Amino acid sequence: MNITVWNEYHPKHQSGKTAKVYPNGLHNAIKDIFKDNPEINVRCATQEEPENGLPDKVLDETDVLIWWGHNWHENVLDSVVDRVCQRVLKGMGIIFLHSSHESKPFKKLMGTTCSLKWREDGGGERLWTINPSHPIAYGVPETFTLEQEEMYGEFFDVPTPDEIVFLGWFEGGEVFRSGITYRRGYGKIFYFQPGHETYPIFYDKTIQKIIYNAAMWASPSAPPRPTLGSTYTPKHERRKLFKWK
Ligand code: ZN
Repeated sequence: MNITVWNEYHPKHQSGKTAKVYPNGLHNAIKDIFKDNPEINVRCATQEEPENGLPDKVLDETDVLIWWGHNWHENVLDSVVDRVCQRVLKGMGIIFLHSSHESKPFKKLMGTTCSLKWREDGGGERLWTINPSHPIAYGVPETFTLEQEEMYGEFFDVPTPDEIVFLGWFEGGEVFRSGITYRRGYGKIFYFQPGHETYPIFYDKTIQKIIYNAAMWASPSAPPRPTLGSTYTPKHERRKLFKWK
């Protein structure tokens, strides 16, 4: 299984507050989540690389793409966005973390503004697992807390999710659909709210477990691919299909 962790990793994030928490970039912290499984290959890609680090060659070798972006969504080339979304429709899994709710590929896949309410004041968050039998919730406690996390509150302008796995509750009383799933084409999509860049969220063991589980869940399955379009098969062929005499 091949995972690509994409981070905008803008030069401004390579020093300052974010670098104090994630000296090698938060993509490397996310990459480390998978380090104990030798059957998973993880590579990182960043926005400043040619083709935003996601040329066809990289996507050819990606089963699940994990996306973290915040302030520089506009710097992602539309051609790259199209390519990523096409891959999702063909079966590549994708996980959007935190502020990636405003990334171009997420908005394109959702078709809505994906806007929400936010506040960064160092307050905490309590998360609740509200879909305990979901594979992404495997081994995750019923409830857990993050000492500090940026508040994301409803209304979150996304289409009604296929499934809501986690709910977030913040010190200001706001609530949020923090872990939600979608299917688009043959691809599986998970959006997960925690992950503000100046808090050590990606070192949290429960968060790591959820991201690990989500990557397993989103990895492409091999379903029978239906034939789409014109179905004018000759009559004798159709009869064979149903074993008619
Ligand atoms: Zn944030």
